[in-house]
Amino acid sequence: CGIVGYIGHRDAYPVIIKGLQRLEYRGYDSAGVTLFDGEDIHLAKTKGKVEDLKSKVETSIPTNGKLGLGHTRWATHGVPNDVNSHPHYSNSGDLVIIHNGIIENYESIKQALVKRGYTFESDTDTEVLVNLIEEVKNKEGVKLGKAVQIALNQVVGAYAIAVFDKNKPDEIVVAKLGSPLAIGIGENEYFIASDASPFIEFTNNAVYLEDEEMAIVRIGKEIKLRKIKDDAIA
Ligand code: GLU
Repeated sequence: CGIVGYIGHRDAYPVIIKGLQRLEYRGYDSAGVTLFDGEDIHLAKTKGKVEDLKSKVETSIPTNGKLGLGHTRWATHGVPNDVNSHPHYSNSGDLVIIHNGIIENYESIKQALVKRGYTFESDTDTEVLVNLIEEVKNKEGVKLGKAVQIALNQVVGAYAIAVFDKNKPDEIVVAKLGSPLAIGIGENEYFIASDASPFIEFTNNAVYLEDEEMAIVRIGKEIKLRKIKDDAIA
């Protein structure tokens, strides 16, 4: 399984799709991509190969957008099918997440969210996490980075995640525990991936997150790694 992300001045799609191909060796059963053009989020996902995803994208969604996330899934919760494939939206449709790993306590969090009116399309643990982040964000009135931090302090499991907010077109928030996550730093552009292979052709400058670290990847801002358990994020 693998994750790829891009934010910058290029069209994200070619970077993402090529990146997913380079991560195929990690194994997967489904693949998906989301592209954000600053106004609308477009999403395509499918059970099967990256090649199947490519056909689906190119016949179903516009491929422009300077922010994108791509995912190959190795199913842990919910069978491999199109709906359970990533990316996943939050209930409002504003947040989008990709995730490698497992949220072990997703069932109790899901039940609590359902009681408070949240609905779920998929059987994944990941869709629970993105809605937990959304609920924290709304309830606490905090920014995305802080909401991710608070939510991750409530989950047990392993993850490499990347999430963005439709209202913040210049930012992707990433976090790692267990699964690998690297950030490639270019000129006014950032790459995110499970390893450096998706962005090695664009930059030699990479940082690798340690376990329990997260970062707010924002255009025009330097990457600063933070501990998920710290209270430093505003
Ligand atoms: N646990 C998540 C799922 O089953 C992510 C699996 C993965 O690592 O790809 O959807």
